Amino acid sequence: MFGWFKKKNNSTSDTYDGEGIFIKCEGCENYHRAPDLPDFDDALKAACAQLSESSQRLYETFKIRGHDGRWNVLPEEGTFYFTNSDGRRCFADFSLVGSWIEQTHSWMWGWGLPDTHITDANRKAPDLARAKGIENDWPCLTTAMLLLNDHEAWHLTEYAASLAQYPMVYRAKVNEKAWSFFAIDTPVWET
Ligand SMILES: [Zn+2]
Repeated sequence: MFGWFKKKNNSTSDTYDGEGIFIKCEGCENYHRAPDLPDFDDALKAACAQLSESSQRLYETFKIRGHDGRWNVLPEEGTFYFTNSDGRRCFADFSLVGSWIEQTHSWMWGWGLPDTHITDANRKAPDLARAKGIENDWPCLTTAMLLLNDHEAWHLTEYAASLAQYPMVYRAKVNEKAWSFFAIDTPVWET
């Protein structure tokens, strides 16, 4: 009995060290390192390769990154807008995959966000990720709150995007602390 308590108190697994993914435990409410699941890692790696390439291509085509553009969303319609510095605008369907706070490394899956943050129109990608997690018993996809670094946040977003067959990922700072990670369909120019 004392041994159990000792082990628990000495456990370092509740302190996120900035590497990998930690899962919020339903039992003790602490965060524990996610189990090693090679199939899950392979799925993320494949999505990363695919989405990095297709995102880059679309950023260039629609001048989305590093071109002084602006973004905004209509969550009720599930539409994402990019406005270029020259005023030209493109738009696309999107999903809000998750919300991430840099300082605390806290990730919240879109499907776990309150209704004020996520709508039926923009939860397709995170919902598909959750369903895949249930199917394969991958807890990183079925636990609403995780601890992870920005690299892992991109990976989860890329994987959710691949499931929704959205070719682009994007992140945007929404306030002082939080980033939103998006999966976005192929944009079209506004006419
Ligand atoms: Zn626990």
